[in-house]
Amino acid sequence: MEKIQMTTPLVEMDGDEMTRVLWAMIKEKLILPFVELRTEYYDLGLLHRNETRDQVTIDAANATKRLGVAVKCATITPNKQRMEEYPQLTEMWKSPNGTIRAILDGTAFRAPILLPCIHPVVKNWKAPITIARHAYGDMYKAVDFLTQEPGTATLTFQADSGAQQSLTVQHVDGGAVWQGMHNTTNSIRAFARSCFQYAIDTRQDLWFSTKDTISKVYDGTFKSIFEEEYETRYRAEFEKLGLQYFYTLIDDAVARVIRSRGGFIWALKNYDGDVMSDMVATAFGSLAMMTSVLVSPDGTMEFEASHGTVTRHYYRYLKGEKTSTNPIATIFAWSGAFKRRGELDQLPALVRFGEAMEQASLETLESGVMTGDLVSLVDEGFEATAVSSEEFLDAIAARLVEKLA
Ligand code: NAP
Ligand code: MG
Repeated sequence: MEKIQMTTPLVEMDGDEMTRVLWAMIKEKLILPFVELRTEYYDLGLLHRNETRDQVTIDAANATKRLGVAVKCATITPNKQRMEEYPQLTEMWKSPNGTIRAILDGTAFRAPILLPCIHPVVKNWKAPITIARHAYGDMYKAVDFLTQEPGTATLTFQADSGAQQSLTVQHVDGGAVWQGMHNTTNSIRAFARSCFQYAIDTRQDLWFSTKDTISKVYDGTFKSIFEEEYETRYRAEFEKLGLQYFYTLIDDAVARVIRSRGGFIWALKNYDGDVMSDMVATAFGSLAMMTSVLVSPDGTMEFEASHGTVTRHYYRYLKGEKTSTNPIATIFAWSGAFKRRGELDQLPALVRFGEAMEQASLETLESGVMTGDLVSLVDEGFEATAVSSEEFLDAIAARLVEKLA
């Protein structure tokens, strides 16, 4: 079989623990036999981030900006416990995803992979619901404190020019809690552009919801920036493609999402997205079936799985056990990157290869060959066998060979 050619490299970011093991297996079994793979490789494994003082993460993000498409393996974000586990760490390095998101100014879109043999808890959901979560500001960059005495809090903005703006927050008669939070109009605009662009790229309607009836200026600004971007930049393209941009209050959106059949993007502010993405992921099935793609306003895309490095399985793997860790979301990160690279470089064979990887994976699952996490989720009466990650990848590879023949 002749190998599929690439013209521009992908940015490849390797990672940690069990997902690093799966990463190598996916390349060996599903990619290298079929594609003349061209990547710029960055090792984001924790120890290499430490050796480079995290410069490798910054380099990988800048390479993604330059090349337009990246695929990332899950990585450890060190915490206190990890500092003890890896005594050679010289600093508690920041989350690589946070660093990459900041450099690409991107929005993360999370979507579930659906299977006919696993029904979502919400029975009318027939197509994936993609959550777009704003990744900057609000409660996640807030300051807060607790006070005990009667008194008044004020909100003051001191402009660099010397101008000043002030408001009374509240006078209280006793103990109270206070919080000061912000967002920037630049970040909200980048969020809006990423959402509209991704809706166009994936041919899906875009829903956006906030609580602008109560939060008139704060949420109202989100609403009006989205409207302004839609009217001035995206309306024509949306109409040409028959897509809809739909704004509604968040309470109304929740009710409509539950009653919907799915198949759209739901854009949400930071906190709303945090909460709703967990709800939607759980209702669709398994975290191991959630994909994630970071999209910049200019259409740069970094593909990854939503889950982490699956530490518990990794320690079993180190003891010599063959684990049944689900590689699907990581396979779909690769296939998503191939499809995008193929579209940008006008390489239909590469796009077809990405599609074939996905079909071979889904058909393997539908034949009842799956990893342990899914066996407990399938419909009653469906016969499923739990196999190891390696056996599962071999089964997918066999189908992939047939498809490409
Ligand atoms: P996790 O790696 O997502 O795993 C949590 C649990 O979910 C696993 O123990 C496993 O349950 C199940 N699971 C997740 N993915 C699975 C898969 N592909 N196949 C089968 N089961 C799967 O989350 P975590 O344990 O909280 O975090 C571990 C490390 O990942 C942390 O160091 C964290 O910093 C990092 N992390 C990285 C990213 C990222 O790079 N994007 C995201 C999240 C977390 P059972 O053990 O019950 O089988
Ligand atoms: Mg959450």
